[in-house]
Amino acid sequence: RRVRYAVVGLGHLALEEIIPALFACKKSKLTALVSDSPEKMQKVARQYGIKAENCYTYQTYDKLKDNMEVDVIYIVLPNSLHKEYVIRGAKAGKHILCEKPMAISAKECEEMIAACNKANVKLMVAYRIQYQPHNRKLRDLVKDKTFGVPKFVEACNSQSSANPAHWRHKIALAGGGALPDIGLYCLNTTRFILGEEPTEVFAYQYSTPGNPLFTEVEELVSWQMRFPSGVIANCSTDYNVHESRRYRVMCDRGWLNMDKAYAYKGQKLTTAKADGKMEKQEEIGLAEINQFGAEMDHFSECILKNKRPFTPGEEGLQDHIIMEAIYKSAKEGKPAKIVKRADANTHG
Ligand code: NAD
Repeated sequence: RRVRYAVVGLGHLALEEIIPALFACKKSKLTALVSDSPEKMQKVARQYGIKAENCYTYQTYDKLKDNMEVDVIYIVLPNSLHKEYVIRGAKAGKHILCEKPMAISAKECEEMIAACNKANVKLMVAYRIQYQPHNRKLRDLVKDKTFGVPKFVEACNSQSSANPAHWRHKIALAGGGALPDIGLYCLNTTRFILGEEPTEVFAYQYSTPGNPLFTEVEELVSWQMRFPSGVIANCSTDYNVHESRRYRVMCDRGWLNMDKAYAYKGQKLTTAKADGKMEKQEEIGLAEINQFGAEMDHFSECILKNKRPFTPGEEGLQDHIIMEAIYKSAKEGKPAKIVKRADANTHG
């Protein structure tokens, strides 16, 4: 059977990516909607054949408890609302898929994990890159040491934004600027591909003075992460730069490069292997899949087979612990240590 989803928040991501992807899924389907805009919800319900009695507002959200046609609640709201809607959703007895960043602090993540454990429901964070074939392939090649021992990672995720009134530029709703929104991809993907955890970070932060986009949240964060194996990752993110979404892993016998690494599609994986004094470059072509569909079908399978999700709440917690260290380092102008915690999802 297909696992049945309620989507909470009908903004850009939900309408343009998640809901269409649900209709291409093999193990998941859309059965309910939650929004504070009745006109928008009616239009979406008509378009996708959702019953009127399966349409909820934020006030009637808790009544999902009595809806036997919903197994999973997918939270696609501004970041600072994730905690409340995850906890209310868990209390309604539903499994929870939560958009990234998981919350606006590590403390909030802990409360969300505890609420889901208490309610005995599964919690997954929507880290779609970890379900994307090119990124998974690169991770396997690093793990197998096909190009030798990794030494450096360089990762960048930047884009330009134009609307200072958007919630992404309000600290109370976003929790931060470029770092938790898009820099998070550099952080989470580096941890994923290396399969180990940073022990220390060193960061710089900058916002162009007088730019109304950055009166509340930061524009640029650049940081280094030091890993136990000796790998150093150089990561950067900026809200005021032409789109650049890439990373490269430099190893002793070659490199692996991912262009459009964090985009919804168009990933390009190129490798170079030392070949005597020459190098052999190759593009590794793989079929594209819908990342959102793959991520939701993974969660559905976990529910059907009672398995732990690949990116559980503890994965979100670990990223928030590291992001807090990044901000601390930038503020204090010195490296910040990351202490391993038993309650977070850690590699290695
Ligand atoms: P959006 O602004 O397009 O949509 C947000 C939705 O939340 C809207 O429907 C809005 O009406 C609703 N909302 C409810 N209360 C609100 C409030 N107080 N203020 C503002 N909006 C409110 O945002 P989005 O781009 O769809 O992002 C939603 C979430 O998805 C965020 O957590 C974001 O980080 C995440 N996201 C993830 C990806 C990804 O690739 N995984 C991509 C984009 C966004």
